[in-house]
Amino acid sequence: MGDCIFCKIIDGEIPSKKVYEDDRVVAFHDINPIAPVHVLVIPKKHIPSLLDLKEEDKELVGYLHLVIQQVAKEMGVDRDGFRVVTNTGLHGQQTVFHLHYHLIGGRQLQWTM
Ligand code: 5GP
Ligand code: ZN
Repeated sequence: MGDCIFCKIIDGEIPSKKVYEDDRVVAFHDINPIAPVHVLVIPKKHIPSLLDLKEEDKELVGYLHLVIQQVAKEMGVDRDGFRVVTNTGLHGQQTVFHLHYHLIGGRQLQWTM
């Protein structure tokens, strides 16, 4: 999709450290991690943000959650817990407009918004 960074990561045009990939979903380490574990889980389908989800994406969103669960286990954060974040729009400080879930863990997180 045009100049979307995450579509380029999916296509391999921009290198990334992938931790999971299948026909619908990719997960890779965030380039600027805020915690020992900071992985981005994204659909291969270019959906700009949560606000653009459609009825037809319901199954994909459920599937993304199952992938997040699996990656959390593989990253070893399932025992102590983790956080899943989808920044949306201006106030949410979304910077990349391809739907993504931040999987953050590996340390005690605070609730400082
Ligand atoms: P947002 O701010 O939209 O919620 O999250 C975008 C995330 O993508 C940021 O945490 C940022 O560090 C990450 N990011 C931006 N460009 C790249 C990149 O080229 N490679 C990787 N691995 N992460 C990126
Ligand atoms: Zn994209």
